[in-house]
Amino acid sequence: MGSHGSFLGCRILVSSMRVNPMRVDLKKRIAVIPGDGIGKEVIPQAVKVVQASGAEVEFTVLDWGADRYLADGTTVPAEGFAMLGREFDAVLVGAFGDPRVPSNIHAKEILLGMRSKMDLYANVRPVRLLDAELCPLKGIEPKDVDFVVLRENTEGVYGDLGGVFKQGTADEIAIQEDVNTRKGVERIIRYAFEFCWKNKKADGSARQRVLMCDKSNAMTHAGGLWQRVFKEVGAEYAQIEKQHMYVDALAMQMVRDPRGFDVIVTNNMFGDILTDLAAALQGGLGMAASGNLHPENTPLGSASRRFIGMFEPVHGSAPPIAGKNVANPLGAILTAAMMLAHLGMTAEAEKIEAAVLAAVRARKTTADVGGTLGTREAAQWVAEKVAEKAAKG
Ligand code: ATP
Repeated sequence: MGSHGSFLGCRILVSSMRVNPMRVDLKKRIAVIPGDGIGKEVIPQAVKVVQASGAEVEFTVLDWGADRYLADGTTVPAEGFAMLGREFDAVLVGAFGDPRVPSNIHAKEILLGMRSKMDLYANVRPVRLLDAELCPLKGIEPKDVDFVVLRENTEGVYGDLGGVFKQGTADEIAIQEDVNTRKGVERIIRYAFEFCWKNKKADGSARQRVLMCDKSNAMTHAGGLWQRVFKEVGAEYAQIEKQHMYVDALAMQMVRDPRGFDVIVTNNMFGDILTDLAAALQGGLGMAASGNLHPENTPLGSASRRFIGMFEPVHGSAPPIAGKNVANPLGAILTAAMMLAHLGMTAEAEKIEAAVLAAVRARKTTADVGGTLGTREAAQWVAEKVAEKAAKG
């Protein structure tokens, strides 16, 4: 085993099985999977912006997605996930979903496969308002919206457990199981406290609160586990304020007054829903970034296996607008910046974030956030700004 890089302040162990152990001294290797629809438009633009930043990375594009599936039936090539973990330092993904594949089987196998087979249990979704004009709520300023939602990414209702009985009869029964394990709940809640402890807001102030969101009044068994674990783990973080809200009340509060949210931790499905709602606060799906991680800085993290992060914009493949050069590339660009920060390239990430902020303020953007530019042109503006900043050092 050798040591390599950092992971939220922690060292990563690299297996000696790695093809080229010498690679630890070289550029970070990024697997790029643009996928389908607008993913194929925004991801090349995000790559262009990263290249303009001068970040020491090397991109390898993989063709996983609907085109490949339709051509030869492959969703994930044999040993694909193992190859990602062995050969790359991170994965940058676009989106999956294509009307030519109504079953969406490729999307399920690639995206849900990455999350569960690579055990990326923490879905990290920063919700930051860059400009007051982008927020649909009255009187909300950028300083008011800077929170993060941590969504459990490997359990809940997404495991497809359950079944349909007496299908097609008047007595039909459909059961969808909600899986919550002690290990799964504990590691995401512990990560929420660690995240709160170690990460500051954009204005440099400390994060102070972790809010656990559930529906324990109705889902008593699963919610009871989340409640107990939150209390137990929270007791280890005396300096962090603990809050709890039911998911319905939280959804209302997010629209009524999002000020005061800091770190929110919740299960897979509530996180899915709340983060789309939260994306609306920051200007819509085209502005939102996310990372799927296996944080190893918890006692439940595994040091015996090499984990890499997968980063994807929050939006989907958006077939109605695909191929028209109208998709907003900023969510993908911010996602790439998040990936760089995660890999330790914070200076490059900050340059990209500053350029995105400048683009939003100058309305050098696509129409969904008030500009008149196309996908490529908006990204080109950001890339040029980033290159200018990189040249200044
Ligand atoms: P999924 O289930 O895969 O997340 P979805 O159907 O929920 O996908 P999206 O594919 O993300 O949703 O898009 C829904 C709509 O939001 C799009 O049709 C489009 O109008 C808008 N949208 C999404 N992403 C963008 C973007 N990057 N730029 C502009 N509009 C976008």
